[in-house]
Amino acid sequence: MPDVAFINGSFVPLAEAKISIDDRGFQFGDGVYEVIRTYKGRPFALEAHWARLERSAAALELTQPYSRTEWTHFVLEGVRRAAYPEAKIYIQLSRGAAPRDHVYPAHLAPTVVMTVREFHPLDKSVSVAGVEAMTIEDIRWGRCDIKSLNLLANVLARQQAKQAHVFEAILVKEGLVTEGAVSNVMVVRGGAVLTAPEGPRILSGVTRAVVLELAINEGLPIHERGISQAELYGADEVFLTGTTVEVLAVVRVDGKSIGDGRPGPVTQRLAAGFTRLVG
Ligand code: PLP
Repeated sequence: MPDVAFINGSFVPLAEAKISIDDRGFQFGDGVYEVIRTYKGRPFALEAHWARLERSAAALELTQPYSRTEWTHFVLEGVRRAAYPEAKIYIQLSRGAAPRDHVYPAHLAPTVVMTVREFHPLDKSVSVAGVEAMTIEDIRWGRCDIKSLNLLANVLARQQAKQAHVFEAILVKEGLVTEGAVSNVMVVRGGAVLTAPEGPRILSGVTRAVVLELAINEGLPIHERGISQAELYGADEVFLTGTTVEVLAVVRVDGKSIGDGRPGPVTQRLAAGFTRLVG
């Protein structure tokens, strides 16, 4: 089946999908995006993604081109056309095309782009064994809560992780763990789940919220607070959450084993709970 593209209200073959070089998404990273995946062919947590898209767009004073009902219709239609067993849906909303100038004209029509591609889940052996991560200084801007198209710092961090042969870059700002380059980070200490609080330093993940709720339902104490790098290294367990990684154990950070160097019981419980929920 072909990958599906959608531009400004029309489905087009991916190879024919084109936007203007004047588009502000290209020129400035002036826009926002969402990534959604399907489980058993059905898009997961759409309402939470729409809520975040609305928050991100509002923060940039971007006009929302579609209602939630219209977005949902387009996503379902894209998934139907692509007909993959599982799909990942990227939605990008830029401020639109205009001659290059930092200042933007009023009433610019936003550019809406969506692609639907096949989703390949992580290999089961990777989730069973857990992954390695490295810490990297978080050099991102002051509004990481906006899911902005401007991902340069994340791109560089992710590339550095790849070159170091580890799965994820864990970002640290002023001594505190913020999140991963493409995920949120949770730490287990003394049976409690710790994660950075919502706010401008992290992207509040859809999966993060789902997993925190699972933890509460499991009777686990949760603390949304800053986690120092020393607490990260000394954690009983560390795991990542995200649309593409789900709940993924981190067994080594900067070459140091976390706990006994294997996915821990709390991570396994939450990963199993997550699998049940999406299944
Ligand atoms: N943090 C960052 C920087 C991300 O890029 C992502 C996902 O792409 C997440 C967290 C996790 O968010 P979600 O669970 O909504 O996929």
